[in-house]
Amino acid sequence: MCGIVAYIGKKEAYPILIKGLQRLEYRGYDSAGVALLSNGNLNLYKKQGKVANLEAFTVGKDVSGYAGIAHTRWATHGEPNDKNAHPHYSESEEIAIIHNGIIENYDVLKEELKSRGFVFKSDTDTEVLVHLIEDIQKKEGVKLAEAVRLALLNVTGAYAIVVLSKNAPNTLVAARKSSPLVVGIGKEGDFYLASDATPIIEYTNRVVYLEDEEIAVVDLNEGFRLWNIQDEEKTPYIQELEMKLEALEKGGYEHFMLKEIHEQPRSIYDCFRGRLNAKEGWVELGGIKEFEQKIVNAQRIVMVACGTSWHACLVGEYLFEDLARINVEVEYASEFRYRNPVINEGDIVIAVSQSGETADTLAALELAKSKGATILGVCNVVGSSISRITHAGSYTHAGPEIGVASTKAFTAQVTVLTLMALAIAHKKGTITETKFHSMLTELEAIPAKVSEVLLANDKIKEIALQYKDATNALYLGRGSSFPVALEGALKLKEISYIHAEGYPAAEMKHGPIALIDEEMPVFVVATAGTSYEKVVSNIQEVKARKGKIIAIVTEGDQQVKNMADAVIEIPATDEHLVPLLATVPFQLLSYHIAVMRGCNVDQPRNLAKSVTVE
Ligand code: GLU
Repeated sequence: MCGIVAYIGKKEAYPILIKGLQRLEYRGYDSAGVALLSNGNLNLYKKQGKVANLEAFTVGKDVSGYAGIAHTRWATHGEPNDKNAHPHYSESEEIAIIHNGIIENYDVLKEELKSRGFVFKSDTDTEVLVHLIEDIQKKEGVKLAEAVRLALLNVTGAYAIVVLSKNAPNTLVAARKSSPLVVGIGKEGDFYLASDATPIIEYTNRVVYLEDEEIAVVDLNEGFRLWNIQDEEKTPYIQELEMKLEALEKGGYEHFMLKEIHEQPRSIYDCFRGRLNAKEGWVELGGIKEFEQKIVNAQRIVMVACGTSWHACLVGEYLFEDLARINVEVEYASEFRYRNPVINEGDIVIAVSQSGETADTLAALELAKSKGATILGVCNVVGSSISRITHAGSYTHAGPEIGVASTKAFTAQVTVLTLMALAIAHKKGTITETKFHSMLTELEAIPAKVSEVLLANDKIKEIALQYKDATNALYLGRGSSFPVALEGALKLKEISYIHAEGYPAAEMKHGPIALIDEEMPVFVVATAGTSYEKVVSNIQEVKARKGKIIAIVTEGDQQVKNMADAVIEIPATDEHLVPLLATVPFQLLSYHIAVMRGCNVDQPRNLAKSVTVE
């Protein structure tokens, strides 16, 4: 959450920063701001709302400058308004800072600074940092980077910061702890800094991901240098990124979310490409190969995640338990980490996170690691914090996901967990050869089947039109379609603001059934499989109370079709793989309902992606 971007070099900074902020807007859109160094002046402009508001605000103002820092905010401390927008000035207005994270001891620091006469202009936690830096610099007579380092020694919490000072016009100082920061090494002796690589990639693919408690100094004369907070110099590890620019554009779609839903045949294929071959009968995840035997021997797997990724883990639970016969517990990372969890020797902890930066998931992993567990990661963003602290892991290769509501990342996570479960089950001998081969063949066929599901778009749009004014909705499913129901409900809530709940279908009669009347749409996954008849009975129970049934069924189904108010057909597949198909109509449905209700689909209110705060 919060996007930060900075530039120093020969080019005009402002257009680079604005474009960068637009790319990072998925991380927050409460306010946007920019500080620019030009002819010895440090000009600062900031505005509540989206980047477009900032652009409108700067029309006619001096936005020249070869160095600048910029921020798009997801407020944690202080209302989303102009004064709390970043950057923040120091007392003398000679230094400006941008920050992603939370300074946990800001209150104590603020009181101390106030008692010494410092005047605060915002309600944010961030502002203490910039005052502290200036205070230290003045008192100790040290360079900017050293003042930043000393200031950070006083701070607890999470931060990715970039600092710009009038008195060090050739330098940007950056640091991180628990919030991500990437430095791009430009081709013309220039430097780019950002929360992720998306604002950088069109200028350079050579990047350095900062580690926790590292401080980077980029200087037009001295180049790039790296220290840790203990003042030890470090050697930067420069990586070459492969990200493609087209992946960051809407490519003719009206919204990123719609584009990303339609990318799923490709993203699922990219996820298993080179990792499975049905003809030759093998599946292999190179990233975790070394740990396969440990997983085979494990008594227990704990999966930790938040939000949509937590739903993917629930699907993973069904897969691992049924196919590999390993006990799986799925945990909300935020609960797990504060509960003094029991971690046994030999436990495997798998963290699932699109961004690989989710603060709670990261902390849960650190805890598990400290207790001796083997920790594995399933992330989408290459080079992200989770992928770096885990013993091993598998990337989902879904490509950048910009829409705040996760779609293709979810199906890619489920695909990776399916591959893992299959690989382990095969090695462990808990799956028959016939079942193993048929599942590989079915998995290879999934991208084409997702394409088929996408053809139902128009029909789904009609259904959306009918239910767009609902105030509540229920989503039901059994087995591994229960997480699909949870995910369907979450998608509807987060982008259309309709209250929705997902339940295991049988749980309905333990409470939620009381809500059913002729106004209530009930979305049910009723595909062919072991619990089909049971779901049919649950549908009858809803119909008996005049609820509206919209069911996802297997192609050719008649029984549910005769009962339901509407059905969406999906191709037949192995029961374990149904979530990969059944999720897609729910994504489209939420998308169309949100568009019809005039909601901002890609940037839903109060939300942001890459949750780097607890
Ligand atoms: N805590 C800072 C603020 O509220 C930064 C927020 C964030 O990174 O999400 O302004």
